[in-house]
Amino acid sequence: MGEIKSYKHIFFDLDHTLWDYEKNSNEALGELFLKYQLNKLGIDSCDHFNLCFEQVNQSLWSDFNKSKISRDTIREQRFLRILNQFEIDDRKLSDQLSDEYLMLCPTKPHLMPYTFEVLDYLKDNYQLHILTNGFTDVQRLKLEKSRLNTYFSTVVTSDSAGYKKPMSSIFKFAIDKAEARKNESIMIGDNLQTDIMGARNFGMDTVYYNPKKQEHKSSVTHEVDCLSQLKSIF
Ligand SMILES: [Mg+2]
Repeated sequence: MGEIKSYKHIFFDLDHTLWDYEKNSNEALGELFLKYQLNKLGIDSCDHFNLCFEQVNQSLWSDFNKSKISRDTIREQRFLRILNQFEIDDRKLSDQLSDEYLMLCPTKPHLMPYTFEVLDYLKDNYQLHILTNGFTDVQRLKLEKSRLNTYFSTVVTSDSAGYKKPMSSIFKFAIDKAEARKNESIMIGDNLQTDIMGARNFGMDTVYYNPKKQEHKSSVTHEVDCLSQLKSIF
Protein backbone atom coordinates (compact mmCIF):
# COMPACT_ATOMS: atom_id res chain seq x y z
CA MET A 1 0.00 0.00 0.00
CA GLY A 2 1.33 3.38 -0.94
CA GLU A 3 1.29 6.27 1.39
CA ILE A 4 -1.91 8.28 1.19
CA LYS A 5 -0.88 11.84 0.65
CA SER A 6 -2.88 14.82 1.60
CA TYR A 7 -1.94 17.63 -0.67
CA LYS A 8 -2.03 21.24 0.37
CA HIS A 9 -0.30 22.93 -2.53
CA ILE A 10 -1.01 22.48 -6.22
CA PHE A 11 1.47 23.87 -8.72
CA PHE A 12 0.15 24.45 -12.22
CA ASP A 13 2.09 24.91 -15.40
CA LEU A 14 0.54 27.75 -17.44
CA ASP A 15 1.08 27.38 -21.20
CA HIS A 16 -0.86 24.50 -22.78
CA THR A 17 -2.08 23.46 -19.31
CA LEU A 18 -4.43 26.28 -18.30
CA TRP A 19 -3.79 28.92 -20.95
CA ASP A 20 -4.74 27.65 -24.40
CA TYR A 21 -1.52 28.52 -26.15
CA GLU A 22 -2.48 27.05 -29.49
CA LYS A 23 -5.82 28.83 -29.75
CA ASN A 24 -4.49 32.16 -28.47
CA SER A 25 -1.45 32.00 -30.67
CA ASN A 26 -3.43 31.07 -33.78
CA GLU A 27 -5.78 33.96 -33.19
CA ALA A 28 -2.90 36.42 -32.86
CA LEU A 29 -1.15 35.01 -35.93
CA GLY A 30 -4.40 35.25 -37.91
CA GLU A 31 -4.60 38.96 -37.15
CA LEU A 32 -0.97 39.51 -38.17
CA PHE A 33 -1.52 37.49 -41.34
CA LEU A 34 -4.30 39.86 -42.40
CA LYS A 35 -2.65 43.07 -41.23
CA TYR A 36 0.62 42.42 -43.07
CA GLN A 37 -1.14 40.75 -46.03
CA LEU A 38 1.26 37.85 -45.78
CA ASN A 39 -0.63 36.02 -48.52
CA LYS A 40 0.72 38.61 -50.96
CA LEU A 41 4.26 37.87 -49.82
CA GLY A 42 4.04 34.17 -50.57
CA ILE A 43 2.52 32.60 -47.45
CA ASP A 44 -0.33 30.73 -49.07
CA SER A 45 -2.66 30.35 -46.09
CA CYS A 46 -3.11 31.28 -42.48
CA ASP A 47 -3.23 27.58 -41.55
CA HIS A 48 0.15 27.07 -43.16
CA PHE A 49 1.50 30.11 -41.28
CA ASN A 50 0.14 28.70 -37.98
CA LEU A 51 1.59 25.28 -38.64
CA CYS A 52 4.98 26.69 -39.47
CA PHE A 53 4.91 28.84 -36.33
CA GLU A 54 4.07 25.81 -34.19
CA GLN A 55 6.99 23.82 -35.56
CA VAL A 56 9.54 26.62 -35.28
CA ASN A 57 8.26 27.71 -31.88
CA GLN A 58 8.31 24.21 -30.44
CA SER A 59 11.86 23.64 -31.60
CA LEU A 60 13.07 26.97 -30.16
CA TRP A 61 11.31 26.34 -26.83
CA SER A 62 12.77 22.87 -26.63
CA ASP A 63 16.26 24.38 -27.04
CA PHE A 64 15.41 27.04 -24.46
CA ASN A 65 14.26 24.40 -21.97
CA LYS A 66 17.59 22.62 -22.46
CA SER A 67 19.38 25.93 -21.82
CA LYS A 68 20.87 25.89 -25.31
CA ILE A 69 19.47 29.28 -26.27
CA SER A 70 18.23 32.42 -24.51
CA ARG A 71 14.90 34.16 -24.43
CA ASP A 72 16.22 36.83 -26.79
CA THR A 73 17.15 34.17 -29.32
CA ILE A 74 13.57 32.88 -29.31
CA ARG A 75 12.31 36.38 -29.91
CA GLU A 76 14.84 37.21 -32.62
CA GLN A 77 14.75 33.92 -34.46
CA ARG A 78 11.11 32.87 -34.40
CA PHE A 79 9.68 34.93 -37.24
CA LEU A 80 12.95 35.09 -39.13
CA ARG A 81 12.92 31.30 -39.43
CA ILE A 82 9.24 31.21 -40.34
CA LEU A 83 9.66 33.79 -43.09
CA ASN A 84 12.74 31.94 -44.34
CA GLN A 85 10.68 28.79 -44.72
CA PHE A 86 8.50 30.71 -47.15
CA GLU A 87 11.63 32.13 -48.81
CA ILE A 88 10.94 35.62 -47.54
CA ASP A 89 14.12 37.42 -46.54
CA ASP A 90 12.99 40.50 -44.63
CA ARG A 91 14.57 41.30 -41.29
CA LYS A 92 12.44 44.39 -40.74
CA LEU A 93 9.19 42.49 -41.26
CA SER A 94 10.41 39.70 -39.01
CA ASP A 95 11.17 42.20 -36.22
CA GLN A 96 7.77 43.86 -36.65
CA LEU A 97 5.93 40.55 -36.54
CA SER A 98 7.93 39.49 -33.51
CA ASP A 99 7.22 42.70 -31.59
CA GLU A 100 3.53 42.71 -32.42
CA TYR A 101 3.07 39.02 -31.71
CA LEU A 102 4.67 39.52 -28.28
CA MET A 103 2.30 42.36 -27.51
CA LEU A 104 -0.82 40.76 -28.93
CA CYS A 105 -0.66 37.07 -28.04
CA PRO A 106 -0.54 37.42 -24.21
CA THR A 107 -3.71 39.55 -24.31
CA LYS A 108 -5.73 36.64 -25.71
CA PRO A 109 -7.93 35.11 -23.03
CA HIS A 110 -8.71 31.56 -24.16
CA LEU A 111 -8.24 28.83 -21.59
CA MET A 112 -8.27 25.05 -21.76
CA PRO A 113 -11.72 23.51 -21.19
CA TYR A 114 -12.96 23.47 -17.56
CA THR A 115 -10.17 25.74 -16.28
CA PHE A 116 -12.45 28.03 -14.25
CA GLU A 117 -14.67 25.20 -13.10
CA VAL A 118 -11.79 23.19 -11.74
CA LEU A 119 -9.98 26.17 -10.18
CA ASP A 120 -13.20 27.19 -8.44
CA TYR A 121 -13.53 23.64 -7.17
CA LEU A 122 -9.95 23.55 -5.85
CA LYS A 123 -9.41 27.07 -4.54
CA ASP A 124 -11.05 26.69 -1.12
CA ASN A 125 -9.23 23.52 -0.11
CA TYR A 126 -5.79 24.00 -1.64
CA GLN A 127 -3.27 26.74 -2.20
CA LEU A 128 -2.80 27.13 -5.91
CA HIS A 129 0.41 28.27 -7.59
CA ILE A 130 1.84 28.85 -11.05
CA LEU A 131 5.22 27.42 -12.02
CA THR A 132 6.13 28.31 -15.58
CA ASN A 133 9.14 28.51 -17.85
CA GLY A 134 7.66 31.60 -19.49
CA PHE A 135 8.82 35.16 -19.15
CA THR A 136 7.57 37.23 -16.21
CA ASP A 137 6.12 40.17 -18.15
CA VAL A 138 4.38 37.93 -20.68
CA GLN A 139 3.01 35.43 -18.15
CA ARG A 140 1.69 38.20 -15.86
CA LEU A 141 -0.19 39.69 -18.78
CA LYS A 142 -1.68 36.31 -19.73
CA LEU A 143 -2.87 35.71 -16.15
CA GLU A 144 -4.44 39.15 -15.97
CA LYS A 145 -6.14 39.15 -19.37
CA SER A 146 -7.54 35.65 -18.95
CA ARG A 147 -8.82 36.55 -15.45
CA LEU A 148 -6.75 33.82 -13.81
CA ASN A 149 -4.63 35.99 -11.54
CA THR A 150 -6.90 35.92 -8.49
CA TYR A 151 -6.61 32.16 -8.09
CA PHE A 152 -2.89 31.89 -7.38
CA SER A 153 -0.99 32.57 -4.17
CA THR A 154 2.38 32.58 -5.91
CA VAL A 155 3.63 32.80 -9.49
CA VAL A 156 7.13 31.59 -10.28
CA THR A 157 8.62 32.04 -13.75
CA SER A 158 12.01 30.80 -14.91
CA ASP A 159 12.88 34.48 -15.24
CA SER A 160 12.16 35.30 -11.62
CA ALA A 161 13.73 32.11 -10.26
CA GLY A 162 16.90 32.16 -12.32
CA TYR A 163 16.38 28.46 -13.06
CA LYS A 164 14.05 26.65 -15.38
CA LYS A 165 12.07 23.43 -15.32
CA PRO A 166 13.14 20.57 -15.30
CA MET A 167 15.92 21.76 -12.92
CA SER A 168 15.28 20.78 -9.31
CA SER A 169 16.39 24.25 -8.23
CA ILE A 170 13.24 25.88 -9.64
CA PHE A 171 10.96 23.41 -7.84
CA LYS A 172 12.86 24.12 -4.61
CA PHE A 173 12.54 27.86 -5.28
CA ALA A 174 8.79 27.47 -5.90
CA ILE A 175 7.99 25.47 -2.76
CA ASP A 176 10.11 27.82 -0.64
CA LYS A 177 8.23 30.80 -2.03
CA ALA A 178 4.92 29.04 -1.40
CA GLU A 179 6.07 28.03 2.10
CA ALA A 180 5.13 24.50 1.15
CA ARG A 181 6.69 21.09 1.68
CA LYS A 182 7.32 18.83 -1.24
CA ASN A 183 5.44 15.88 0.24
CA GLU A 184 2.28 17.96 0.42
CA SER A 185 2.75 19.43 -3.06
CA ILE A 186 1.91 18.23 -6.53
CA MET A 187 2.79 19.49 -10.02
CA ILE A 188 0.27 19.54 -12.87
CA GLY A 189 1.55 20.06 -16.40
CA ASP A 190 1.45 19.03 -20.03
CA ASN A 191 5.17 18.58 -20.63
CA LEU A 192 6.72 15.21 -19.75
CA GLN A 193 10.26 16.59 -19.68
CA THR A 194 9.94 19.87 -17.88
CA ASP A 195 6.86 19.43 -15.67
CA ILE A 196 6.70 15.73 -14.97
CA MET A 197 10.31 14.52 -15.01
CA GLY A 198 11.41 17.75 -13.33
CA ALA A 199 8.95 17.42 -10.47
CA ARG A 200 9.56 13.70 -10.11
CA ASN A 201 13.34 14.12 -9.89
CA PHE A 202 12.79 16.76 -7.25
CA GLY A 203 10.57 14.38 -5.31
CA MET A 204 7.15 15.84 -5.97
CA ASP A 205 4.04 13.97 -7.11
CA THR A 206 2.73 14.73 -10.56
CA VAL A 207 -0.39 14.96 -12.66
CA TYR A 208 0.32 14.63 -16.37
CA TYR A 209 -2.23 16.60 -18.36
CA ASN A 210 -2.38 14.80 -21.69
CA PRO A 211 -5.31 16.23 -23.69
CA LYS A 212 -4.09 14.72 -26.96
CA LYS A 213 -3.77 11.32 -25.29
CA GLN A 214 -0.22 10.83 -26.50
CA GLU A 215 1.42 7.52 -25.72
CA HIS A 216 4.36 7.62 -23.37
CA LYS A 217 6.42 5.50 -21.01
CA SER A 218 7.00 8.06 -18.30
CA SER A 219 6.21 7.39 -14.72
CA VAL A 220 3.46 9.70 -13.50
CA THR A 221 1.48 9.78 -10.27
CA HIS A 222 -1.78 10.62 -12.05
CA GLU A 223 -2.79 11.28 -15.62
CA VAL A 224 -5.81 13.16 -16.99
CA ASP A 225 -6.86 14.08 -20.51
CA CYS A 226 -9.35 16.72 -19.35
CA LEU A 227 -8.96 19.19 -16.50
CA SER A 228 -12.42 18.22 -15.20
CA GLN A 229 -10.93 14.85 -14.21
CA LEU A 230 -8.86 16.61 -11.55
CA LYS A 231 -12.01 16.58 -9.43
CA SER A 232 -11.64 12.85 -8.95
CA ILE A 233 -8.03 13.23 -7.73
CA PHE A 234 -8.52 16.14 -5.32
MG1 LIG B 1 3.12 23.75 -20.71
